[in-house]
Amino acid sequence: MVSDAAMAANWAGNVRFRAERVVAPESVGELQEIVAGARKARALGTGHSFSRIADTDGTLISTARLPRRIRIDDGAVTVSGGIRYGDLARELAPNGWALRNLGSLPHISVAGACATGTHGSGDRNGSLATSVAALDLVTASGELVSVRRGADEDFDGHVIALGALGITVAVTLDLVPGFQVRQLVYEGLTRDTLLASVEEIFAASYSVSVFTGWDPASSQLWLKQRVDGPEGDAEPPAERFGARLATRPLHPVPGIDPTHTTQQLGVPGPWHERLPHFRLDFTPSAGDELQTEYFVAREHAAAAIDALFAIGAVVRPALQISEIRTVAADTLWLSPAFQRDVMALHFTWLSAEATVMPAIAAVERALAPFSPVPHWGKVFSLPPAAVRAGYPRAAEFLALAARRDPEAVFRNQYLDTYLPAA
Ligand SMILES: Cc1cc2nc3c(=O)[nH]c(=O)nc-3n(C[C@H](O)[C@H](O)[C@H](O)COP(=O)(O)OP(=O)(O)OC[C@H]3O[C@@H](n4cnc5c(N)ncnc54)[C@H](O)[C@@H]3O)c2cc1C
Repeated sequence: MVSDAAMAANWAGNVRFRAERVVAPESVGELQEIVAGARKARALGTGHSFSRIADTDGTLISTARLPRRIRIDDGAVTVSGGIRYGDLARELAPNGWALRNLGSLPHISVAGACATGTHGSGDRNGSLATSVAALDLVTASGELVSVRRGADEDFDGHVIALGALGITVAVTLDLVPGFQVRQLVYEGLTRDTLLASVEEIFAASYSVSVFTGWDPASSQLWLKQRVDGPEGDAEPPAERFGARLATRPLHPVPGIDPTHTTQQLGVPGPWHERLPHFRLDFTPSAGDELQTEYFVAREHAAAAIDALFAIGAVVRPALQISEIRTVAADTLWLSPAFQRDVMALHFTWLSAEATVMPAIAAVERALAPFSPVPHWGKVFSLPPAAVRAGYPRAAEFLALAARRDPEAVFRNQYLDTYLPAA
């Protein structure tokens, strides 16, 4: 076991963990012993969450040094929870397999991303957690338990579980046959066109993102098209929805070197080198930032986007860039897309909390009529009751957590605030 003081903060540096100690076990047996002996414990993946979700005042357990495992079997892959999506993809792709979707960056751990409902985009793509078919987790007593989709009736409570049920050591993910994607970026999408054609725009490709600084004249439209799909081998039109096809690679954040982004300009490539916006070997996003994201039901998409354009001047001083994406409905109890398709409204802020928090409050006021729920892993200031109100299965989740963790070993201040025990 290795103590690693360098891991005492998250990736963004805005959360300094309160943990008494940080440990990185090198075997599942060692992990089981640590958990069984802990007063309080919490898993840490790659630390890419901006909220205090991973924090504990006890033992913070990094999954980074647990044995790496990747076993492909019968249309599924079983991996160690701490593996990064990018490392997994590099094993899957040469074997002709793919995951259905990826987030904007491949640097995050599979278990940590699924625990918070991390998502990419696509009207027909659920969050990354929807690919989870089974989990092995070490529960508070140190016991290793397995849950499987279709076999355990509370499985849907285990997948997006915020680290509250135990430490996931293995995840089985559904695979699909490998596919090629090409990425086209269009510049100059206007607010009026976005509002008038929001459904058509997000239905236009396998995965669609709109990057915007809330300037009515100049959003970017990113289309990720499957080469085997309906538009995949057609000559890309020079104009889509009134926006112009970019003829040079672009970074979503104006002024940043596009070397960090995955290949654009319509060059086809393997799924894992096009679906994320950022390349595994480079710093993702701006690198020095805070992030916030809210989910609203799809029927509110245009009105919610309109409300954000209306406060563009208020948010812009704190903003690097916003991204709008879609996520398909699922059945996972703590999913922001539980039983409803959602639009995800994301903000990459400057890393200056004093400037950012008033902007977050303004966004929350603007979105209030649409009952927004925040991303579990990002910064927000919504009242706890408003967060909990977004989850109709919260009570069932709390009962499950009490069963799996009767001594509240995995409970932390974040859970006490947003999902207090009954
Ligand atoms: C640059 C950047 C880009 C991002 N892009 C996106 C995006 O495109 N879409 C999106 O939805 N989000 C995005 N995020 C947010 C990010 O995906 C989530 O915060 C995600 O949870 C990070 O995974 P992680 O491994 O770093 O988890 P951590 O931050 O380490 O942990 C998150 C939670 O998961 C729990 N956890 C971690 N590992 C385990 C385990 N093995 N067992 C049980 N619980 C565990 C922790 O206890 C904690 O509660 C981005 C973040 C950054 C920094």
